[in-house]
Amino acid sequence: ASTWANVPQGPPVCITEAFKADSFAQKINLGVGAYRDDQGKPYVLPSVRKAEDQVIASRLNKEYAGITGVPEFTKAAAVLAYGKDSSALNRLAITQSISGTGALRIGGAFLARFFPGAKTIYIPEPSWANHAAVFKDSGLEVRKYAYYNKQTIGLDFDGLLADIKAAPAGSAFLFHACAHNPTGVDPTPAQWKEIEAAVKAQGHYSFFDMAYQGFASGDIHKDAFALRHFVAQGHNVCLAQSFAKNMGLYGERIGAFSVVCADAAERARVDSQIKILVRPMYSNPPIHGARIAAEILNTPALYDQWLVEVKDMADRIITMRALLKDNLEKLGSKHDWSHITSQIGMFAYTGLTPEQMDVLAKEHSVYATRDGRISVAGITSANVGRLAEAIFKVKG
Ligand code: PMP
Repeated sequence: ASTWANVPQGPPVCITEAFKADSFAQKINLGVGAYRDDQGKPYVLPSVRKAEDQVIASRLNKEYAGITGVPEFTKAAAVLAYGKDSSALNRLAITQSISGTGALRIGGAFLARFFPGAKTIYIPEPSWANHAAVFKDSGLEVRKYAYYNKQTIGLDFDGLLADIKAAPAGSAFLFHACAHNPTGVDPTPAQWKEIEAAVKAQGHYSFFDMAYQGFASGDIHKDAFALRHFVAQGHNVCLAQSFAKNMGLYGERIGAFSVVCADAAERARVDSQIKILVRPMYSNPPIHGARIAAEILNTPALYDQWLVEVKDMADRIITMRALLKDNLEKLGSKHDWSHITSQIGMFAYTGLTPEQMDVLAKEHSVYATRDGRISVAGITSANVGRLAEAIFKVKG
């Protein structure tokens, strides 16, 4: 028998097969987790093009980066996340990572090896599907805390607080810093303050996943509120950052993982152990994306240009949300669609059932995940009318 005769067929990991197979010219793909411009095309930010040109023009060599990556990049990434005046900066262990997923994976492995409490991480229900997979494969047990209320299509704030209180003291909690994926439902700043107090009262540890800084509201500071508030309140958090969405650097796989430490001595110890973790995984990270991101973050004119471009992407998404809601209301839908515009980020939870999503795909060539999540980035001025009609026909 073949060595691999016992390997079972796994379920598909990707959701775009049915979309590809559909020959209808006006088909709509709302399953993609990447930004599209108003023509429905992939978008490379002009600031990224410029930075890349500058990087190439400087004819740098292709030597290895250190284990923790390109220092000009990680230093700037830390400032972007925590803020330039943050007390965290001089006691931060940070490493470049293979985008946000790689940051989560290093973090998962670090907790699995060194977290003093139970090797369990609490993630929201629901969460980005890969969270549970990454943390399980890192050696952590994954448990869920209440997050989403199906009835209100909003935050289950009471359930969330109750679960924070119910978890054993000193547990590890994962929070989406902004633009919760898949629901698009975020706590308000006032709710974050209550969450912080509850986390502190229980002595829990906070792990932030910030995959959408700037991309959610259009403002990098606003989107970092939760993270910065926790740090200001004395939480020595850890953080996974991604530059996939806010710089459109998806395939360059550029991100960072950082741990806020008590002091410089602790930072040195944590940093040494991160290196020991990363070395046998992939030795050291790729340099090109890090150079592009560093060029943008460290060149004032490019940085200012990038801020405008991130805001443009966020604004297009916010506009599409409003247009979808308007169109549904104009068609005479009696449902309350206010959640479409109150939610934030790339994804919207429509509240449609799996069966209704099937009808959307089969009869209207509108493709998204069966949980009713649509990627607002896939909506354009040209397809929003047809999309609203399809949703209206399916849901009323
Ligand atoms: N966390 C969340 C919540 C995400 O939505 C994503 C992207 N879909 C990621 C992390 C990581 O993505 P990447 O590895 O492409 O940076």
